[in-house]
Amino acid sequence: MHSLSRRHFMAFAAGGTVALAAGRVHAHDATVQAHPYPTRGGSDPGPRDPIRERENPDLVNPPPTDSGTLPNLRFSFSDAHVRKGTGGWTRQVTQRELGVSTTIAGVDMRLNAGGIRELHWHKEGEWSYMLYGKARITALDADGGWFIDDVGVGDLWYFPPGVPHSIQGLGPDGCEFLLAFDDGNFDEDSTFLLSDWFKHLPPEILAKNFGVPAATFATLPAPEEEYIFAGNVPGALAADAIRGGKKSARVFSHRMMAQKPITLAGGTVRITDASTFPISKTIAAALVELQPGAMRELHWHPNNDEWQYYLEGEGRMGVFAASGQARTFDYRAGDVGYVPFAMGHYIENTGTTPLRFLELFKSDRYADISLNQWLANTPPALVEQHLHLDQTFMQALNKTKTPIVTGD
Ligand code: MN
Ligand code: MN
Repeated sequence: MHSLSRRHFMAFAAGGTVALAAGRVHAHDATVQAHPYPTRGGSDPGPRDPIRERENPDLVNPPPTDSGTLPNLRFSFSDAHVRKGTGGWTRQVTQRELGVSTTIAGVDMRLNAGGIRELHWHKEGEWSYMLYGKARITALDADGGWFIDDVGVGDLWYFPPGVPHSIQGLGPDGCEFLLAFDDGNFDEDSTFLLSDWFKHLPPEILAKNFGVPAATFATLPAPEEEYIFAGNVPGALAADAIRGGKKSARVFSHRMMAQKPITLAGGTVRITDASTFPISKTIAAALVELQPGAMRELHWHPNNDEWQYYLEGEGRMGVFAASGQARTFDYRAGDVGYVPFAMGHYIENTGTTPLRFLELFKSDRYADISLNQWLANTPPALVEQHLHLDQTFMQALNKTKTPIVTGD
């Protein structure tokens, strides 16, 4: 028996004893460890993928409180096809990859220095979070106003449905960003591309439209050569200002990291929705950072499903789906998570480094309901008759919402 699988087998077979001794699980450990719950069910002598199981301790040994069936609530961008171009690459996690994700589709895109995401538009609203490097974005609003800005790590942009735009990687090493579209069925391969339309118009129509000879259009590039293509790094932002044009009165970018966060003992929360970023009418966001051991408190959202992107670290999420159903999923950097509308949930940092993730909602506002705050703001006698808990519990209830808890 291979040493890795043998160790795994032994840990599995020994069940609760080993699991309890192991304490907190670190997914980078060489063996698949059981979570610190008494395990049931015995060994697994058949085929297995220890690498995947190591990433899924809460699937392999679920908390005994888990029960029933929930749809899959996680998909890793590392399991998504990468479409490569001369200027970068892109991959997407949509409803096709993660069936439950009907409200939002995600795209992870890399543009090398000078790399251009072709001028295009689409039916969906586009929200973005910059993951790495610097980019220049351009757009035109419906009043003919131009918009150009440079964005860096932690900055956002939002392009409303139908608004044409472009993205270009700047020096020294381009950029990578997360895109979120307000429709789970979005397809990054089905956008309206500048080169595609030019290629599918009679030259005499183009000639008439632009007032130039038809021969002008004899050597148009193939659309498949564009989409994401290598280009030249542009000069200073000010030099790209459109002379004689009208600058847009709208602001399509936002510095999320410049917002003062809600700071708690176990981490921070930044919330950006249409109240702080007015153009972003269809995507509301929270950026959460949890210190090791800290937890996003038990809560749910009264407005829509939650789409998550894990930026850094490792954690787990427990989701309560009513009717006695509850499941726990494990997450790490590069994963997409999902919580269907109104389902109760928590997210716990199970790693040794900060856990950072984005919560996104197809909504113009961020909203959540805290279980703790709800019980604290309900007549105590009424609560006591439900849960039969002692005065220590009743006195610990907090009328102030505390989105992150440490248990200390
Ligand atoms: Mn776009
Ligand atoms: Mn939530």
